[in-house]
Amino acid sequence: MEDLQLQQMPNVTRRQLLIRGLYCECPNCGQAKLFKTPLRIHRYCPKCGMQIERGNGYYLGPLSINYSITVFTFVLPSLLLGFFDYITIKLALVVAFTGALLLPVLLYRFSWSCWLMIYYSCLTQELHANKTEDCDDLCFEKERRTRTQR
Ligand SMILES: [Zn+2]
Repeated sequence: MEDLQLQQMPNVTRRQLLIRGLYCECPNCGQAKLFKTPLRIHRYCPKCGMQIERGNGYYLGPLSINYSITVFTFVLPSLLLGFFDYITIKLALVVAFTGALLLPVLLYRFSWSCWLMIYYSCLTQELHANKTEDCDDLCFEKERRTRTQR
């Protein structure tokens, strides 16, 4: 069993979070990728054990990032081009519909990574690496991780 290394980790800065977010790495340790397959995120980091996918609506962050980028950079501009007769309205609808189907899949990884980067940049104390050793939450998470690794 791999040691949890919680006490040895340095505090994670916002700059490190940004770099880890751009490379789709674990925001806590930066030693593991966020995804186990192209479209499946790890529930727990395979290196440090931090819970990445928290459930209970945590996916709404990446979903809203994904939706916003899709609508404001692709669907809306193509519809406006059709509305103002730069392209035909049929072409605008086809382009908007195709983009609305494909872009969320292409942006899935980026939106998850971006969400984690934003979340932990705003709440840096939520990262295990930034918690104090006597933190109750950290003890609970440590027990939970050792239970799941058996
Ligand atoms: Zn990690």
